[in-house]
Amino acid sequence: MEPIPVYRPRLTGNVVAYVNECLSSGWISSRGEFIPRFENSFADYVGAFGATSVSNGTVALHLALEALGIGRGDEVIVPSFTYIASVNTILQTGATPVYADSLEATLQVDPLSIASAITPRTKAIMAVHLYGHPCDMDAIANLCKTHGLLLIEDCAEAFGSRWRGKHVGTFGDAATFSFFGNKTITTGEGGMVLARDGELMERCRRLKSQGVSPDREYWHDMLAFNYRMTNIQAAVGLSQLEVVEEILRDKWKLAERYRDGLLGLPLRTHDAVGEVTHSHWMCSIILDDPKERDALRQHLAENGIETRPFFPPTHLMPHCRAEISLPVAESISSRGINLPSFPDLTEGQTARICAVIKSFYD
Ligand SMILES: *Cc1c(COP(=O)(O)O)cnc(C)c1O
Repeated sequence: MEPIPVYRPRLTGNVVAYVNECLSSGWISSRGEFIPRFENSFADYVGAFGATSVSNGTVALHLALEALGIGRGDEVIVPSFTYIASVNTILQTGATPVYADSLEATLQVDPLSIASAITPRTKAIMAVHLYGHPCDMDAIANLCKTHGLLLIEDCAEAFGSRWRGKHVGTFGDAATFSFFGNKTITTGEGGMVLARDGELMERCRRLKSQGVSPDREYWHDMLAFNYRMTNIQAAVGLSQLEVVEEILRDKWKLAERYRDGLLGLPLRTHDAVGEVTHSHWMCSIILDDPKERDALRQHLAENGIETRPFFPPTHLMPHCRAEISLPVAESISSRGINLPSFPDLTEGQTARICAVIKSFYD
C-alpha cells in the first residue's frame, strides 16, 4: 500500500508559469512584480487594510510584535497549547509570555483564562487560531477593549477561517500568516503580516527591510531586520491564491468524510462550533482516553499512515517553562492526533484511514 503522508501541497494553476517568469526575467530576489501582486491579492481576499510579505510565519510574528512596540517589561497573554513560534517570538522581543488555558470543545484559547491572567503589565493578547478553528473573537476583542490591550492574531493555521463571516486576521491590531509547505496555501517558506492602519503597516515595511530611510540612501534610523520574501515565493503564493477556493473546498469535504467515517468510536473529530468557518488546516481527532493515543498512532504507522501528535503544552517546555497547571491544555494535548489533511487525499484513502482506525478499536 502506498504510504499516506500528513501533508502534501497542491501546486497547480499558474505556479510553473509564474516561477519561470521570475527566472527568465531575472527578478528572483526580494524585488519584482509578484510581491505587490501577492500582497494586494492576499489583503483583498482576507478583507484586510493591507499586507506585507515576509520570509516565514515566525518572523511575521516577531515583526508584528516589534512593530507594536512590545518588549522588555511587557506581558503578552498566549495560549500554552500552540506551536512554539507563538511563544518564542514573544520571548525574542524581551517580553514575558503569560499562558492561558484552552477550551475542550474548540481547542482554542479560553477567554475566561485570559481574563484571569491580565495584570498591570499586560500589554497584548496573542490569539492563535489553532488547526484552522477560529478563537472566540467577540470575547477576546472585548477584553482588549475593556483593558486597553493590543491584539495580535497568529493565523498561521487559519487561512480561510472566519468568525461570524469575517476572515480571521481582521480583528487584531496586527495579524500574521505562514506559508510553510504544509500550510493551507504555501510559498515553500513564507509569511504575511497584516496591520490595522497605514502607520503600523509602514512600520512593518520599514522594520522588515533594514529600517532604511525613505528619502536617504543607505541611511538607517532604526534597529531593523531583513525579513523580506522573494519574488519567486510571491509568484508561488499568487498562484496558490488563484486556486484557493478549490483547496478550501476539498479540505472541507475531507473533514466531512472523516466526521462521517469515524462516528460511533470513543473519539471525536475537531468540528466547527458556533457561527464559524473552520478551514480544517489539520483534520484532527481527540480521543476519549489519552492512554490509547500512542498505540493508535503506532497502529496507523504500521499501516502506512503518517500522523502527528497534538502540540505539547509550551508551558512544560524547558526554555519557557511556567510552574502552573493548565488542565484543559494538558488534557487535549495528550489526546489529539492530526490525520492526513491534504486537499488531494482521495475518497479511497480517507476510507482506508477510517477503516484502520476502526480496526484499532475492534
Ligand atoms: C506554522 C506556524 C507558525 C510559524 O510559521 P513558519 O512559517 O513555520 O515559521 C507560527 N504559528 C503557528 C500557530 C504555526 O502553526
